Amino acid sequence: MSAAHSIQARLSETLRLTLVYRLARELNAELRSADVVRRVLHTTAEALGTPYASIVSLWRGEIHDAYALGGAPGVDPHPALALVLRDGLAGFVLHNGRTMVVNDIIANPLWLPLPDDPLSPQIGSALCVPLIHTGEVAGVLTLAHPARGYFTVDAVNLTATISEMGAAALTNTLLLETAREAEQRYAALFDDAIVPIIITDTQGTIQVANRRACEFLGYSHEELERRTIAAIHRESASALIGTHFDSLQRGQEVRFRSTAWRKDGTACAVEVFAKRLDHGPTADLIQWIEHDLSSQLMVEELRRDMTAMVYHDLRGPLGNVYSSLEALNRLLADESNPAVRSLLDVARRASQQSRRMVDSLLDIQRLEEGMRLRDRHNSALNALVEGAVEQMHPLADEKNIRMRMALAADLPLIYVEPDMIERVVGNLIDNAIKYTPDSGVIVISTASSGGEVYIRVKDTGPGIPLDAQRSIFDKFARVRYRDAPRGVGLGLAFCKLAIEAHGGRIWVHSAADTGSIFTCALPVDAPATSELPSLGANST
Ligand code: ADP
Repeated sequence: MSAAHSIQARLSETLRLTLVYRLARELNAELRSADVVRRVLHTTAEALGTPYASIVSLWRGEIHDAYALGGAPGVDPHPALALVLRDGLAGFVLHNGRTMVVNDIIANPLWLPLPDDPLSPQIGSALCVPLIHTGEVAGVLTLAHPARGYFTVDAVNLTATISEMGAAALTNTLLLETAREAEQRYAALFDDAIVPIIITDTQGTIQVANRRACEFLGYSHEELERRTIAAIHRESASALIGTHFDSLQRGQEVRFRSTAWRKDGTACAVEVFAKRLDHGPTADLIQWIEHDLSSQLMVEELRRDMTAMVYHDLRGPLGNVYSSLEALNRLLADESNPAVRSLLDVARRASQQSRRMVDSLLDIQRLEEGMRLRDRHNSALNALVEGAVEQMHPLADEKNIRMRMALAADLPLIYVEPDMIERVVGNLIDNAIKYTPDSGVIVISTASSGGEVYIRVKDTGPGIPLDAQRSIFDKFARVRYRDAPRGVGLGLAFCKLAIEAHGGRIWVHSAADTGSIFTCALPVDAPATSELPSLGANST
């Protein structure tokens, strides 16, 4: 029987249909690309009766897998196939994307005589088919037979049908494998993250938590996945999610401080970073990163305690220096030597300034910690302003600055800590003197209207740029001017905290070269509580 007859006999119509049907079912069930490659190769070689066959699968232009039948046992087909793919028949087919039948391989230069290939002399003809799915080449299938002219049109057609099915199955399994790898990589990253991460649905029910979250909260994965994020924070879902709902909905990261409760009942301060993970309509999730703040808070508390101790310990000796200098001033009231007078004045002013600064630092700390105001009295604002102006006179005189007061008559009394309000006014005047050039003018005025009293300090200094006007009330905020006097950026932070603790407001109007006007408004009626704002939030 001729070679062509022998293959025709194998490929009856029924046989072909049965084969294609069986292969379609088998390929549908395959989940691994390696199994698809092997099944396509075996089925085709068996159906066509070819002893030699190879298949190469490609992924993103690179060889992904290679498999050969009929080669020398134990010989790795990869190197030979790589060469063939580059310079041989398979390479040509891949490049042109069309099937090639070689009836007599001796006469075809594309059939490479590979070194150490015991099969080459035994091969007469070959069939090479590209595996193409949706226009992309997924691989190449080569079949070879010792007889010349072995592959008939029916054989070519059957191989093409099998190749199409194989290409689709191969592409799908490769996509699945890539997706699985990406998922495994993500899962490893998620689980090994050094911060606790919890994923919930939009109602706050925990879907998954990483290892660190389990360790941090003391629950197993299963226990945690039966809880809600609201239960972990002992807050209602509306407080935890509802408050931030709009921002989360817009995809913004929300950040807030809270307390996380562990399984053993202990609490831990955390900073929470919440973000919506938008994975399409079926998987709307929220990611919660729980950043443990306990060690940071411990360090902060230690630092606060230390600084409070230092300020407190400085206050006593500074008070002694101040009162001794005042006593000396009284004793030397008749002193006529101008050098002695001048030295004494400098020392008195410096000690007074240092005392004010230490007092303000202690107040900042007290107010930031939310302590209530103490020693509040019904006080006359004008008297406090006059006290502050008097203290600042020597400084103004040094720069030949004129301080003018325009105080409203019949101001209502205000219920304040008088010493604190006097220091606020002192700070504003001190700044006005610092930033006003020599021989300038400062106007300090008071007024009342609509249940509030106002203190205004207007200078003829350089003004404050608009973009800096909000931040100057933050701690350590300073605007950089040329030849600016030295400071630490605490004065206005203290003023803001002190005024707001009294239920009032402070703001600035300023324009370059026309100077600045700082205004404080204080309520005439005592506020019901002295709820204290935290520093850093801007007001104006
Ligand atoms: P300090 O004066 O110690 O730097 P403050 O908190 O009192 O700290 O002031 C913060 C910053 O605001 C100052 O560094 C300065 O840049 C700006 N500032 C305050 N008062 C005035 C003023 N009257 N004129 C111009 N700039 C001012």
